[in-house]
This record gives sequence, C-alpha cells and structure tokens, in this order.
Amino acid sequence: TKHSPNDSVSMVRVIVRVRPFLPHEGSGSGFGDTAIDKSIPCVSILDSPLESASEVTVHLKDPYSSRNASYKLDSFYGQEDNNVRQIFEREVMPLIPAVINGSNATVFAYGATGSGKTFTMQGTNELPGLMPMAASTILSMCENMGRTVEISYYEIYMERCYDLLEVKTKEIAIFDNKDGHPHLKRLAKIQIHSMLDFQEAFFYGMKRRKVAHTGLNDVSSRSHGVLVISVSRPCEIGPGNTLIGKLNLIDLAGNEDNRKTGNEGVRLLESTKINQSLFALSNVIYALNNNNSRIPYRDSKLTRILQDSLGGTSHAVMVACLNPGDYEQSVHTVSLAARSRRI
Ligand code: ADP
Ligand code: MG
Repeated sequence: TKHSPNDSVSMVRVIVRVRPFLPHEGSGSGFGDTAIDKSIPCVSILDSPLESASEVTVHLKDPYSSRNASYKLDSFYGQEDNNVRQIFEREVMPLIPAVINGSNATVFAYGATGSGKTFTMQGTNELPGLMPMAASTILSMCENMGRTVEISYYEIYMERCYDLLEVKTKEIAIFDNKDGHPHLKRLAKIQIHSMLDFQEAFFYGMKRRKVAHTGLNDVSSRSHGVLVISVSRPCEIGPGNTLIGKLNLIDLAGNEDNRKTGNEGVRLLESTKINQSLFALSNVIYALNNNNSRIPYRDSKLTRILQDSLGGTSHAVMVACLNPGDYEQSVHTVSLAARSRRI
C-alpha cells in the first residue's frame, strides 16, 4: 500500500481534492463575485496521476490572467467524479488497522469556506463522507474482536474546546497527564455498537456544532470540528489495563485570507485565531515530515491536543480542499499545504 508505517513516506500525507462546480456557479451569483466559466477550473494536474506515483504536481492557473503557480503534493483527486470512496480507500483505510491495534491517526480537511471540507468529512445522507465511512469500517472490523468502539465529538472555537455530545455546552479544559500527554478533561465518550448508534450521536453533535456558543450563529466554518473514534481493548501493559487507539477526523475552520475578506471586530479576531492555529498545525506537520527534533505542539490548542496523534508512530493525512472557481483561495490553500510537506 501507499503508506505502510515502514515506508520512508511522509508521516503526514498532503493530498488535494477539488470539488466540482456547483449548479448555481457560473451564473454570476453564488460563491464568487464574478461570473465564472465552468469549462475552466483553475486547478489541474501536470503529470499523469499514476497510482504508483509518490508525488504529483498540482498546477494552478487563473483563467482571467496569466498568473499561475505549481506545487508538489502527495496525491490529487480531481473534480470529475465523486471520489470520496476512493479517497477513503486509498488514504484513510490504510490508517485503520493501526488504530484498531492501539495507535493513533488523524485526517484533516483543510481549505477555504465553500471548498468542500464538510462535504468531504461529513458528507450527506446519500453520499457519506470520511467520518461515517471510517466509523462503519471500524465497527465492522471490530466485530467479534472484543474491542470497544467509542466516539467523542468536540469543537475548538477561539482557542477554546467545547464538547458537542454533552446536553449543555461545556468548555473542556486540557490537562497534561502524568506521562506528559495532553488530555481533555471529562470529554464525553459514547460507546457505539452499530451505525445507528453512531448516527444518533453524530447527528446530535452536528446540530450542536451549528449553535454551540452564541446560540444563534453558525460558527461551524470558523471552528475546528473534531470527531474521535476510539477503539479500546483489555491489555496487560496499557494505562488502566486498556490499550486505546484513536482516529481523529477533523473538519478544520476555513482558512480565509484576511486581507481579502475585509473582516473586522469579532470576525477579525476569529480569523486571526484560526490563522494562528492553522499556521501552528502547518509548522508541526512540517517539523514532523522533516524529522526536526523540536516539534512546536504547544503553539496552539489544536496541535497540543493532537500531540499524541501526530508524530511518534501516528500517521496522518491532510486533505486540501479546493473550489475550482477560486484561484486566489486555491493558491492560499495549496501553498500552505505544500509548505507542510516533507522537502
Ligand atoms: P466547506 O465545509 O469547506 O465550507 P462545504 O463542504 O460546505 O464547504 O461545500 C460547499 C458546497 O459545495 C456545499 O453546497 C456542498 O454540498 C458542495 N460540495 C462540496 N464538495 C462537493 C463534491 N465533491 N461534490 C458535490 N458537491 C460538493
Ligand atoms: Mg464546512
């Protein structure tokens, strides 16, 4: 497979997913300000996407000017078909056996608002995303194995953590355990036996994500949403005599470029925090992929919480999501993604 733990591949794979143009796009209304020509996506791939290729060159070209840029990444999933199943099988599935055996792994969706992060991670009823696919695969692989499968769901908004599975919105404190690992205090964990159990808890958390802090505003695009699927089993050596593996599935906050959005007040503060934490994440990934001795986990809540799931024996995948009609945001996203990759 593409990334078994013994390969010399990056600890964190960085891949691109381009969503299709949406039906209303190209009409001059919708996400972009200008009418866009749907026949010219701003993203393409230079070399042929051979399955065995260990690297792809993603080419970005502004259809309305001569601006263009190219970046090297690990893999590319184009807009032509619905390929979330393919992304799951190639990128996420290889992480799952290790999780079932007590290691941690992380999948991130990264990109501007409207680029398809939530679609990729959550999906819809008809087209499930990576979160339900991972839950269903883990449940069926754990069947009759004496493993306990549990989920937690929380969000990080303005550098604070909130439990999405609690009835009342509760801020969660981070503590360092005796072994120096960060730990979210009293984060709810719900045991699931079936996809019905999963869906019940997951939908509840998804609804909560929309209203959690202000009671009104949808802050979901300005917070990081973290679903944790953990698998535990009795074990002589683990802490508390259990061995726990965790898969973190993260719908990151939109990485808007402040200079372009003209944000002010709370919005500006939010996006400053978002940019700081995404930058911290990118720095951690870069340090891991380059075998640096110091990994700057402490620079943000997100990276601090993920300390035991990024690095060590943990593998991760970052899915950079792109809107094919937005050249500038795509460059913004891909350049940060490419910067995180191993040199
Ligand atoms: P984000 O979470 O990055 O803000 P969304 O996931 O909400 O973006 O996607 C924006 C819009 O694009 C939504 O209407 C979503 O249904 C649609 N969309 C995103 N990705 C795809 C895809 N691969 N195929 C079809 N529609 C998509
Ligand atoms: Mg979203």
